Amino acid sequence: MTTLDDLPIRDDLRGKKPYGAPQKPVRVALNVNENTHPVPETVAQDIVDRVAQAVRTVNRYPDREFTVLREKLAAYLGHGITREQIWAANGSNEVLQQFMQAFGGPGRTVLGFPPTYSMHSIIAEGTGTHWVTAPRDADFELSPETVERGIRATKPDIVFLCSPNNPTGTPVSLDTIEAAYSAFDGMLLVDEAYAEFAPTGSPTALTLLEGRPRLAVSRTLSKAFAFAGARVGYLAADPAVTDALRLVRLPYHLSALTQAAAGAALDHADLMLAMVDDIKAQRDRIVAELPKLGYRPYRSWSNFVLFGGVADPHDVFLRLLADDILIRDLGIPGHLRVSAGTEAETTAFLEALARIEA
Ligand code: PMP
Repeated sequence: MTTLDDLPIRDDLRGKKPYGAPQKPVRVALNVNENTHPVPETVAQDIVDRVAQAVRTVNRYPDREFTVLREKLAAYLGHGITREQIWAANGSNEVLQQFMQAFGGPGRTVLGFPPTYSMHSIIAEGTGTHWVTAPRDADFELSPETVERGIRATKPDIVFLCSPNNPTGTPVSLDTIEAAYSAFDGMLLVDEAYAEFAPTGSPTALTLLEGRPRLAVSRTLSKAFAFAGARVGYLAADPAVTDALRLVRLPYHLSALTQAAAGAALDHADLMLAMVDDIKAQRDRIVAELPKLGYRPYRSWSNFVLFGGVADPHDVFLRLLADDILIRDLGIPGHLRVSAGTEAETTAFLEALARIEA
């Protein structure tokens, strides 16, 4: 039987592992930070109608510039952001890949602060960009000094900050982001995939875009918008950055069906986001309950909670799985991560975990 090693694959991809969050059919899936609430029925109907309309012209290529979608995304973000500053792709993963293709690549480096979103290093590898790392502070926080020190030590071409950070849930302050921007002359990307779960009125890197052409802020419809299956992510930056991304994107990368569906979802932003408060309440409940079971949760501005104090993470993971509950063992010693689900799902998780403790 032929194996990967038998093929003339790129030398720098030999021995690498693909992204591999388990996909298992379980009763309660709290492992990949999805929004576990379905799209509201009235919105679903509108999406179906618009997709049905778009199907009638799929003999033609879609709008390569996804102009209407960019306008809607700019309006949704606010902060005076214009259509020219917006870029979108099939999930923010693709946005990050295009960013790395344009500003990274062979001979260039991207700096990240682990533990952080596993795809950042995998996308670096895929685009031939060298992934370098620097440490965080205690409790996975990131002070301006720590970020500056990391940048000075590694001299990267690109810096990735994730705020709130996956898998820790911890936010990155605007002071830290500003310090990072000033500490080098490369491109700074702030991954704000979970921004909508931050406390209301929290600062966002979007407010720093003005006058900072080397800053980009990525977002997604996958989380707060409950749209993970549709694959829509986006980025806001100086219009020159979107011009750079045009050099590497494949023509017509966003299908007419995707553009239609995302446009409909954005027209119902209020309904699509209606569950965010419920999810935040369940997240806060997890943070409040875990210490009573002897675990140590970290502060979270996202829709998931990382917790420490787990003697044998893989054993707890397997025992929850035996209860048909899937959470995430990221290989961080003593830690596990759980997404906040509906009230019933969160209850199922907390009760099952309490039984394991007992
Ligand atoms: N950034 C972060 C921090 C994430 O956790 C995720 C998804 N887990 C993504 C980006 C990618 O999401 P998507 O491609 O669905 O937009």
